[in-house]
Amino acid sequence: MVRLAGVQKHYGNLHVLKDIDLDVARGEVVVVIGPSGAGKSTLCRAINRLETIDEGEILLDGQPLPQEGKGLARLRADVGMVFQSFNLFAHKTVLENVTLGPIKVRKKSKAEAEARAKELLERVGVAHQAAKYPAQLSGGQQQRVAIARALAMDPKVMLFDEPTSALDPEMIKEVLDVMVDLAERGMTMIVVTHEMGFARTAANRVVFMADGAIVETTNPEKFFTNPESDRAKDFLGKIL
Ligand code: ADP
Ligand code: MG
Repeated sequence: MVRLAGVQKHYGNLHVLKDIDLDVARGEVVVVIGPSGAGKSTLCRAINRLETIDEGEILLDGQPLPQEGKGLARLRADVGMVFQSFNLFAHKTVLENVTLGPIKVRKKSKAEAEARAKELLERVGVAHQAAKYPAQLSGGQQQRVAIARALAMDPKVMLFDEPTSALDPEMIKEVLDVMVDLAERGMTMIVVTHEMGFARTAANRVVFMADGAIVETTNPEKFFTNPESDRAKDFLGKIL
């Protein structure tokens, strides 16, 4: 579903993505872990082309990423993204946040978009907040709306960039539960997170990144109990 081959990216002299090869199969859940500055966010942003790359290629469902224009809007719809900060439209209601993309980009009717939005808001447990504005919701509720908003576009893959790291501890589980449910429904997911519980429950693979490179790729159980690289051992020693 997603293929990165020989991807290189620099910011000036800083080599942020070093020869990244990564294949994510349909329905697979890949957790990306690594220290701050490893290039995890840049990797996510490259996949929905919020960043350009210098070399290599990125394919989504076998197709190269579009460079500009209408294709780019469609790509952003195909690649759902959930950020650390909730990024909802502050001046739109919860329901409008979820229906806007489907109406504008997917050309759905308002009625159709609203019916689907209500179904998704129900699924993520915030249906009763539909008429409220984002600021009236807790962080955990906002993040669940952000997930519903991305899902409303019927994405081919969902990217999560540290979706729970800005949340109060008691709200982390409600967001992770929604993500686990999504994984169980067969969504293809790339998830940047240090939540070991999520990785162990839902991930097929863990990709450990440091200094712009993929250092090791392994299964979650092995990664958390017996990682191969010294970099991973050192990192886990600091977070666990
Ligand atoms: P991570 O998400 O793993 O913490 P990032 O992908 O955000 O890492 O950043 C990787 C490196 O690139 C860091 O050193 C960061 O400071 C740098 N970086 C990120 N975005 C930019 C930018 N727009 N311009 C210059 N440097 C950047
Ligand atoms: Mg980041």
